[in-house]
Amino acid sequence: MTNNNIYFIANWKMYGDLSSLNSIKKVISLKKQKKFKKAKIVYCPPNIIVNEFIKYTKYTNISVGSQDCYFIDGTGPYTGNISAYQLKKLGVNYVIAGHSEKRLDGDTDKLINKKVLNILSNNLHVILCIGESLKDKKNKKTLSVIRKQLSTCLKEVKKSHKIIIAYEPIWSIGSGIIPSPKELDKTIKYIKQFLSKKFKNNKSKILYGGSVNQKNINILKNTKGINGFLIGGASQTSNKFIDIIKKTIN
Ligand code: PEP
Repeated sequence: MTNNNIYFIANWKMYGDLSSLNSIKKVISLKKQKKFKKAKIVYCPPNIIVNEFIKYTKYTNISVGSQDCYFIDGTGPYTGNISAYQLKKLGVNYVIAGHSEKRLDGDTDKLINKKVLNILSNNLHVILCIGESLKDKKNKKTLSVIRKQLSTCLKEVKKSHKIIIAYEPIWSIGSGIIPSPKELDKTIKYIKQFLSKKFKNNKSKILYGGSVNQKNINILKNTKGINGFLIGGASQTSNKFIDIIKKTIN
């Protein structure tokens, strides 16, 4: 874990409604404490409540993100979709791209690359998710899968300061299983090397995501070279989310 800002990005997936706003009150109070100054908290709720989250967190130092955007930017006849441009106008600061649950819907690395470029051209932070499947892991293909995802998804990207890479092994998401410290160190080191080679003055950040919870955080926080966590299930209950933040920054 680095000594700088530590990211705690909450991916609420397809959970939550207006009543969920109540549950972030405690997190807002926590963030007000000096001790948690370096905690960079970003909520990514479903788009139906993004606007309310933006209003609710306005003077709080907590940021709001979206879980995805369309691969075409601007506005147009694309029923059911939302562009990075529209999210920017709404007041969103972060957008996730390439989450494995969106890859299941058909998002390819090439399509994700379009989303990444749109997100960055709107001056938003992109949280790019990468990670191998269980089959890849068993076939010892973790690093080659990651290399391919990074090189295609970041094609034509020139600046790194708004890039956050979330390493999320697919087999870990929602399963309660996490990589061993040795496995994680090796993969994070590889991602860092890739990014340092790609970007001259590399300012990108790396997060770990996959079954982060109040128990395993004591192990995960010792991972070298990471700047925080992307948290799904455990971020939807404020007590669990707060516990993770407190145990990381103690
Ligand atoms: C995620 O959805 O990005 C995630 C990491 O989920 P979970 O923490 O529930 O494994």
